[in-house]
Amino acid sequence: MREISSSSDGSPGASALVVCVATRATDTSNFFIRATMSVAETLAESERFGVEGRHREGAEQADAVLARAKITRAQQAHARELLALHRLRLGDFAASVQNGLLALEFLTVNGDLPRQSKLHCTLALAYHETALNEPALHHVLAALEAARACGSYSAEFWALSRSAMVHEVMGDPQRGVELGCKAFDLARSLDDPEIAFAASNNLGDTYLEVAKNQRLAGLDPVAALTAGLSHVREAVSLAQAQGHSFYESLARTNLVSLLIELGQFAEGREQVARATKLARDNGYRNVEINNDAQLAAIVRAEGNLDEATAMMDAQLEDPSSEGDLELLATLHRALFEMHKASGRFEPALQHYEKLHELTFQMTQQTAGLQARMLINTIEIEQARHEAARARFEAQMERIRADEFSTEAKTDPLTLLPNRRALDGALPVMIAQARDADEPLCAAMIDFDNFKLVNDTFGHGVGDQVLVAMSAMLREVTRETDLAVRMGGEEFLLVFADTRRDQAARACERLLASVRAYPWSSLGVDLTCTVSVGISQMQPGESTAHWLARADSALYASKRGGRDRVSTDPL
Ligand code: GH3
Ligand code: MG
Ligand code: MG
Repeated sequence: MREISSSSDGSPGASALVVCVATRATDTSNFFIRATMSVAETLAESERFGVEGRHREGAEQADAVLARAKITRAQQAHARELLALHRLRLGDFAASVQNGLLALEFLTVNGDLPRQSKLHCTLALAYHETALNEPALHHVLAALEAARACGSYSAEFWALSRSAMVHEVMGDPQRGVELGCKAFDLARSLDDPEIAFAASNNLGDTYLEVAKNQRLAGLDPVAALTAGLSHVREAVSLAQAQGHSFYESLARTNLVSLLIELGQFAEGREQVARATKLARDNGYRNVEINNDAQLAAIVRAEGNLDEATAMMDAQLEDPSSEGDLELLATLHRALFEMHKASGRFEPALQHYEKLHELTFQMTQQTAGLQARMLINTIEIEQARHEAARARFEAQMERIRADEFSTEAKTDPLTLLPNRRALDGALPVMIAQARDADEPLCAAMIDFDNFKLVNDTFGHGVGDQVLVAMSAMLREVTRETDLAVRMGGEEFLLVFADTRRDQAARACERLLASVRAYPWSSLGVDLTCTVSVGISQMQPGESTAHWLARADSALYASKRGGRDRVSTDPL
């Protein structure tokens, strides 16, 4: 029997014992306090409940955090991390794993190694309790790696200790002892009473497993039992020194198991009496039931089969034993063996059948739990996959939107910005000009007699003229200016930091290049000219008014005979 760590290390032990600690004192007033508590306060309280072994309340707090509408990803991960521990201690391994894996996602991304290590230990225990040894092994190794990477000796201790346990159940208790010894050595360099206790107690427990294996293999188990005994005795005195009655009752229970294996029944009786008293005085009901079974085992080992049978029958009748399938199986096996040895075949058969039924029930229970946990894992994988897909789709959508907005703001023929682009860019230019107190000029440009170009040379040539024009417009404008195709054969130039006389000069240059352009390469005898109207933006003037003045100037150019630049006088 291993310790249930009540510290924040996140490494509790045997599940049967978890329940009795968890169901202590319930403070119903918490509900009312919680309503006004912040998320951070609720999480802190959930953590504190964990340290105090009040896991039902701790889980409630963490669930309440998750139910809140606005919590950060970090808070969500913290709540799940706490739930992994609370649910483990409450015996809900599937929920422990599900929350643990989700929290781990976050901790892995944010690189918090000590918390990662701790959480891997919790997950290893949850898988261990469900006999899912492969994932348990994966998590103890990950816990060890994270602990070493961050250089935390206490994290390394817990990871080693849990590794020992996993190797032990995977049929390699010898490796379990090696790891347990490493953990033990590490514990000696740490000034942590809980770690010191766990190191001795758990190593003793591992030696007991080694001894049982040796006995089965026909080897002498005495050396392993003796080593186990000295570690567990140490654990008893550590627990006593700390005044930790729960740990003391656990260690004494382990001591009894070792003494029974060693055939030291007198001390076994004495220790079981002390362990029972401790358990009874403190309400550790599960430990007490275990102690009763141990006492019956001693009576049986001493050869008093009838007395042992009566004790075990009484235990079977006890409603507290109900639901503890492992204990019931132990009792039925012992009773079957004793009845058989005494030649009472009918009750022997009855116990054998009960044992068979229980074994089947346990297998089914484990299988069901394993299936549920694996389904949870698949759901987590699926959620992860869907989140990744959603991220990818959002990215695609952004790219598409960007493409669309570029497309929507570009004139497909000339590839110049269009009127929609102007709506976005012009206010920026205006604001800049105003802030820097710089002049801003608009030049409205319209092809002369363009209809005639189309009519004479065809629409295709008309298009080529517009494309050639766009190249000339790019030439006359600077990086800070703007050239827009307004529609048809009309263009707008916006000159930044330019007075109207400067704009007029630039436009005269444009007119000269249009005139000089070798249009005849597009159509025989084709000539093109453009007319321009310029206006300079006035302080406080609206954009519409400013551009309308440029339009008026353009019409002045048209009226004046085309192929010219007119400047609005304002
Ligand atoms: P004005 O000198 O008074 O401006 O005479 P105009 O012929 O240029 O004026 P009007 O606005 O009557 O004609 C413009 C012509 O431009 C009509 C239309 O067919 C042509 N046009 C508009 N958009 C395009 C285009 O994308 N490609 C071609 N090839 N022609 C176009
Ligand atoms: Mg025209
Ligand atoms: Mg026109």
